[in-house]
Amino acid sequence: MSHSQISIGVLTSGGDAQGMNAAVRAVVRAAIHEGAAVYAIYEGYQGMVDGGDRVRQLAWDDVGSILHRGGTIIGTARCPAFRERDGRRRAARNLLQCGIDRLVIIGGDGSLTGANLFRQEWPELLAELVQAGEIDEATARAHPALMIAGLVGSIDNDMVGTDMTIGADSALHRIIEAIDALTSTAASHQRSFVVEVMGRHCGYLALTSAIAGGADYVLIPEYPPAEGWENRMCEMLRHGRAAGRRDSIVVVAEGATDRTGNRISADYIRQVLEERLGEDTRVTILGHVQRGGTPSAYDRWMSTLVGHAAVQEVLAATPDSEPQLIGVRYNRVRRLPLMQCVEQTRAVARTIAEKDYVKAVELRGGSFNEMTKTFRAMAEALPSVTPVDRPRRIAVLHGGGLAPGMNTAARAAVRLGRDRGHTMLGVRGSFGGLIDGRIEELTWGDVEGWTALGGAELGASRQTPTTEQLYTVARALETHGVDGLLVIGGWKAYQVLHWLHSERERYPAFKMPMICLPATIDNNLPGSDLSVGADTALNVIVEALDRIKQSAMAARRCFVVEVMGRHCGYLALMSGMASGAERIYLPEEGITLKDLQADVERMVDSFGKGRRFYLTIRNEYANDQYTTDFLARLFEEEGSHLFDVRQAVLGHVQQGGNPSPFDRILATRLAAHCIDFLTGELGRGGAAGAFVGLAEGKLTTFPIKQMPDMVDIANRRPLEQWWLELRSVLEALAQP
Ligand code: ADP
Repeated sequence: MSHSQISIGVLTSGGDAQGMNAAVRAVVRAAIHEGAAVYAIYEGYQGMVDGGDRVRQLAWDDVGSILHRGGTIIGTARCPAFRERDGRRRAARNLLQCGIDRLVIIGGDGSLTGANLFRQEWPELLAELVQAGEIDEATARAHPALMIAGLVGSIDNDMVGTDMTIGADSALHRIIEAIDALTSTAASHQRSFVVEVMGRHCGYLALTSAIAGGADYVLIPEYPPAEGWENRMCEMLRHGRAAGRRDSIVVVAEGATDRTGNRISADYIRQVLEERLGEDTRVTILGHVQRGGTPSAYDRWMSTLVGHAAVQEVLAATPDSEPQLIGVRYNRVRRLPLMQCVEQTRAVARTIAEKDYVKAVELRGGSFNEMTKTFRAMAEALPSVTPVDRPRRIAVLHGGGLAPGMNTAARAAVRLGRDRGHTMLGVRGSFGGLIDGRIEELTWGDVEGWTALGGAELGASRQTPTTEQLYTVARALETHGVDGLLVIGGWKAYQVLHWLHSERERYPAFKMPMICLPATIDNNLPGSDLSVGADTALNVIVEALDRIKQSAMAARRCFVVEVMGRHCGYLALMSGMASGAERIYLPEEGITLKDLQADVERMVDSFGKGRRFYLTIRNEYANDQYTTDFLARLFEEEGSHLFDVRQAVLGHVQQGGNPSPFDRILATRLAAHCIDFLTGELGRGGAAGAFVGLAEGKLTTFPIKQMPDMVDIANRRPLEQWWLELRSVLEALAQP
């Protein structure tokens, strides 16, 4: 369908959030891709009310090179005039001057409420404008309705109807950078820090950053602590210190209160810690730092995805359709009636104000509740159960290549396992360590500080036991009295566990519960939408690409960047989405000569029209023959009269880096599920083998026997790869 008569407006409104630019870029390019005209409305509703040059048509290149920028390039504002009917009438007139009757609004619940009101009043506003002679009847007839789609830009992650709001992940990055930095200085001086984070009605940032930052105590609006909490907090901190912590971190949401509704300030917490524990305590209020900085990889690709979907939404809308909120659910686009989401969001705030905290947590959803419990169990240095006669012994080890977040998972497993009364053992040196018997008990304090550490303190290796070594493995498990096994790792870890499980008749020592936790940057494991490490690697790649882009600005240049992923194109596709690559090469599709010919033609054509930078991303295994070097030479040879070509093989930096907040949360949630599984099996005398995954929002355990049915063995990747369908979005936005 041609959309040549259609004009779409896009604006950002309310508080700014990182990722808004990615959304604006996606809206602009998707609209142009569909043949519609697209206008930016500068400074939020203020620009709409003012009109003139604050409403400007944008071209494809106007939104080039903005993905990496924080804030919003089209400006945002709070606009009292739009709250008045007169302001909205002026806004309607200004939109109609450009023929705009479809809007994509990126903002918080206030902005979206305003948009809905505007939409409801539209026919009356137009009638008034006709009457006043400000527009003619034909114009009014041509635009009988305003069609809108809302995207939620808010760092608080406070909107019902989307798993994540635009900006929340980047805000978490800022908070975690700060907590990591404070932790290191606090540990040097044995100090305590109280960190205040944003969130007036929503404890998402506080709770997740407390988990990801390894804090001791957290205070959030949804869970005001019961009377006497000061003593309990001090008690917990005291136990932590006795068990080996050198610092204490308390995270408090700005909207935290006690049960009577009185605000708990960071300064009050400081006083309590100083008076009752005699601790040298400092307060850090993070404030606007949380809104700033470059958007995270997630905020770039997620905002791109929803921006693209919002354009499809307004193009498909009819005058009668209900306005939709375009959000994400389990990494997929989800549309829901806009006002229903806004009303439910307000209901949570009301529930908190009415002190119905049980309901508030319930309204936040299942994983919020689960994370609250996990945090408590981990922060508490004492087991929550009375030790049984003989504690069960669970061994933890890594298998396969290194993935950031392995330490976070091991720490969570050790602490949560001990909380359940188990003895937790660490195996150093992966399966080799198991063979050599490098197994030792890990205490609560031994894993202190592991949350934030990249690498793998226990060691990771791709080496797997040989058939001859199986006997030694069995002996080691017996000698050390291991009752259950948790392997944190990638493809190799899964393979070995599958093998051990299938050999249990021959080696009775393997008759014990065993479970694999997905940790690999490749994201190539069955049963889990994401594996631990993939988000960190993506952030590392995206940061590198930002620098590559900057370096190339002076010349006309094409870059061929090679990323890891083995036979799985996840990192290539998602980094392409997040950095606005023009072309990606995936192992799932391979590379043909015909593709390359078309690519060269497109590239030459595009530089001929004035392009200055062209980014291609190639997965390391996309094709055996058409290597990164080959591609670079080919492009150079064919395009040397117009541009030069450089290649960059990012290599092992992708496995390095400290785990991202998302990977820390994922690692913790998965570890909690593994410990639950092992505890359950040990309790009932079971000996199941399994792997865990977070798929479509649910933590699920799959029997290890099922693994071969869920994967393409030859290519070492899952049969189902949810993210592949995002390819069409990338393509629509890559080139005009
Ligand atoms: P957020 O969108 O981040 O929640 P605000 O609540 O400040 O931020 O709203 C941003 C802007 O949206 C306001 O300045 C105003 O222009 C508009 N707005 C908010 N609520 C309404 C409303 N009820 N009616 C009309 N406009 C509104």
